[in-house]
Amino acid sequence: MKCKSVIPGVVALVAAVGLSGCEKKSEPAAKPAAADNQTTAAADWCAEHGVPESICTRCNPKLIAEFKQKGDWCKEHSLPESQCLECNPDLKEKFEAMKPKGK
Ligand SMILES: [Zn+2]
Ligand SMILES: [Zn+2]
Repeated sequence: MKCKSVIPGVVALVAAVGLSGCEKKSEPAAKPAAADNQTTAAADWCAEHGVPESICTRCNPKLIAEFKQKGDWCKEHSLPESQCLECNPDLKEKFEAMKPKGK
């Protein structure tokens, strides 16, 4: 009686471990995503906003605090002063020069 009851327990345990092992295998592979836009961009450039992507506050709102901290911020246009073409039309030339050539 005692021996019989042990075996099904072990089998159940092995089955449970085996199942959870299978589940884990299907988890990875769903990671690479949202990388399409970045790989196609030739350089550090946000064509949409006409500034380098690495300082584009409209694409990276996290950067806003940094610019504000430096005092480089145009409240009126919600842009770093150093990127605000409305207030500093001269910047257009500067960014035009930074723009990766191609199109
Ligand atoms: Zn942008
Ligand atoms: Zn401005």
